[in-house]
Amino acid sequence: MTHKEAERCIPSFFDESIENLELAEFLEHIDSCPDCREELTIQFLVGRGLQSLSMGDEFNLAGELDKKLLKAHARLNRLYRLERFSWILRAIVVAETVALFMLTLRILF
Ligand SMILES: [Zn+2]
Repeated sequence: MTHKEAERCIPSFFDESIENLELAEFLEHIDSCPDCREELTIQFLVGRGLQSLSMGDEFNLAGELDKKLLKAHARLNRLYRLERFSWILRAIVVAETVALFMLTLRILF
């Protein structure tokens, strides 16, 4: 993912409408690119900072952004676990199909 693409993903990252595949590339870029990480932090501070000011909330925005990033990583990890699990299920189905085929052969011949 390029810097421009990462920057374009920031709004959808904040409102959590970002697609999983895009999220994976976005997080990978943000974790390895200090420039885009800074841009993300700035946009978060500006957006949430103004919201907090108008609502009179207490400020712990840096921690909030970290929490948001952790949550996004957790979402992807859950997805990867599900995907691994679905491959295990597929393998079981294939093994059972083979076993059934062998049994059928034994019954017929
Ligand atoms: Zn970048």
